[in-house]
Amino acid sequence: MMSEKETTGAKADAEMPAYIIEAARSGRAKCKTCRKPIAKDALRLGVMVEGPFGYGHMWYHLVCAAKRLFDRLEEAYAQKAWENAKDVPEDIPPLEVLAVLKVEADKKRAEKRNLPYVELDPSGRARCKHCDELIERGSVRVVIGRSVEFGQQIRTTPINIHPGCAADALQSPDSTTEPDSLADDLRENSKGVDSELLDAVIHEIGSLY
Ligand SMILES: [Zn+2]
Ligand SMILES: [Zn+2]
Repeated sequence: MMSEKETTGAKADAEMPAYIIEAARSGRAKCKTCRKPIAKDALRLGVMVEGPFGYGHMWYHLVCAAKRLFDRLEEAYAQKAWENAKDVPEDIPPLEVLAVLKVEADKKRAEKRNLPYVELDPSGRARCKHCDELIERGSVRVVIGRSVEFGQQIRTTPINIHPGCAADALQSPDSTTEPDSLADDLRENSKGVDSELLDAVIHEIGSLY
């Protein structure tokens, strides 16, 4: 829902710009992607939408827009949307800087794929994190979670292993993949893998315990 206080006017307005890039005039609007308030003076992108009470702008942190709505942000830049601000902000970052955020966010999203899963090795360059041997291109690899420390935080990172190494790798203390539900989880998460092949892999892993 729109934040009524910050939307601009209750009726359709032909003059209303499709995009605004500005320093937030208050701290009341919430960012539509991260749902946190946009602090006063923080740069934000407004995207015009038609709501139940007419037209208004939905607001996004400029950085959040880069990560989630890059196409719209590109359009806003092409239209010089900062010229629609009441006070034109000075320190607008170049689009190339925001594009880097988009690429990083896309990468992070791809890494967030649900673990564990089975896939065919695409490159032949990955090493099995258990035995350290290369995984042959086109052969099956199992991707499970391992906990890794990043500074103060512990995060799960995906690691590639041979099916034949999976049973041992799952016993490792830093494994974050649950052996008991492994078969079900692999069936759920391994989209696009032939089901007979998947069954064979699950059988192979199970027979090693
Ligand atoms: Zn945000
Ligand atoms: Zn291995």
